[in-house]
Amino acid sequence: MKLPKCWSCSYEFKWAEVLFFFDGKIKCPECREKQYITTQSRWRTGVLSSLVMGGPLFPIIFIFNTPLSIFLPALVILFLINMAVQPAVLEFTDTKQPVV
Ligand SMILES: [Zn+2]
Repeated sequence: MKLPKCWSCSYEFKWAEVLFFFDGKIKCPECREKQYITTQSRWRTGVLSSLVMGGPLFPIIFIFNTPLSIFLPALVILFLINMAVQPAVLEFTDTKQPVV
């Protein structure tokens, strides 16, 4: 999996370091520079989330009329998958960029 790099020193972040990413709250462990997510990769994470979460959920809820006992664990699993793949599309920059 390709992981995001520091915009300043090209340090490659570890998966766990960007798992709980908060804009500007994450600092490079090498050079201590703040990392902001780029507008482009913000869009990519949004699209990815809706594909991973929304794609399977729609048929689960509306077509198969799945009972809550299956739906809830499925939701948790999808959420974890979503978290797991997010770092792969993140890109960092030195300045806070607009959301759109
Ligand atoms: Zn750095």
